[in-house]
Amino acid sequence: MVDHTANLRAVRERIERACGAAGRDPGAVTLVAVSKTYPLDDLRALYDLGQRHFGESRLQEALPKVDAMPNDVTWHSIGRLQSNKARRAAEAFDVLHTLESEGQLREIEKAGRTVDGLVEANLAEERTKGGLAPESLAGFVEKVVQSSHVRFRGLMAIGPAGLPDEALRPLYRDLAETNARLGGTWLSLGMSGDLEAAIAAGATHVRVGTALFGARPPL
Ligand SMILES: *Cc1c(COP(=O)(O)O)cnc(C)c1O
Repeated sequence: MVDHTANLRAVRERIERACGAAGRDPGAVTLVAVSKTYPLDDLRALYDLGQRHFGESRLQEALPKVDAMPNDVTWHSIGRLQSNKARRAAEAFDVLHTLESEGQLREIEKAGRTVDGLVEANLAEERTKGGLAPESLAGFVEKVVQSSHVRFRGLMAIGPAGLPDEALRPLYRDLAETNARLGGTWLSLGMSGDLEAAIAAGATHVRVGTALFGARPPL
């Protein structure tokens, strides 16, 4: 059995310690519980402990969870978002973390509401991951800022796998500088394994799955 109470407390303590070390207010860091692949009971358990932000990767998996959970949850879309699913995603989720194409923006315009949006940066130009190369960020952010149905909030990135902490930190600092230069006030960065490095750089949203819910079955 997963001990949600202990896990949530441990993650919150990690966030508080990292904020303390960085001289930041823990209230400025939103913990997004990444619930992809986990059953509704796990989400309910965290909800009952006060957790209100949840992140999902796949629209089809998220929709029944969105329907079943209380409506004061803020839903974050954190997986790659195909353009043809972007309209539906903008209807179901409150925050889209993986904006990267004008095709997505066109579809989001068709949703009858405005969502918060983050542009995904591909930090190490990893081909297997989504997101835009550094030189393409400014042009696309401009498009998001002009978009009528997205409030541009900042950048999102997934830390390159296997990098030691001391290599991650300068990469994250650079990303935070780019974010500030582009007018971003949110920074979605950090997962179970690297949230300390992300918070040191200024992350405002950390996306944590396994540290809260236990080992995940392979997707
Ligand atoms: C799965 C996932 C996470 C959470 O990863 P953990 O290592 O389980 O904390 C965070 N961000 C994205 C984009 C993910 O796909």
